[in-house]
Amino acid sequence: MTETILERCEAKGLRLTDQRRTIAAVLQEADDHPDAEELYARASAVDPKISLATVYRTVKLFEEKGILDKHEFGDGRARYETADREHHDHLIDITTGDVIEFVDPEIEALQEKIAEKLGYKLKGHRLELFGVPLKK
Ligand SMILES: [Zn+2]
Repeated sequence: MTETILERCEAKGLRLTDQRRTIAAVLQEADDHPDAEELYARASAVDPKISLATVYRTVKLFEEKGILDKHEFGDGRARYETADREHHDHLIDITTGDVIEFVDPEIEALQEKIAEKLGYKLKGHRLELFGVPLKK
């Protein structure tokens, strides 16, 4: 990771209040895919004056500026992770809600091939797998 969320906000000319800085710091530290309520819980542990509404507004702003990626993993909740992560896809365990990250070179190559067959150069994709654990 080359730049922090704060640095990218500054690069985009975003002025950040202390509360937004706190939320940015919480997002920076997250290595999972928290939703707004989870972010709110973490941010308000740092600054109890932060409201859930501020968290919602801040993640929306960051998302609009391309600083955060928003995911929807089938449970109706928007989840966030920083947008500068190395590309990866997600497998969601539908029994626990656990999110497993993976990269598969064959899938990457196959998607490029499909796009090309359809007359396109692939510029991005989203792949989400939903599963239950195999019985052992
Ligand atoms: Zn991820």
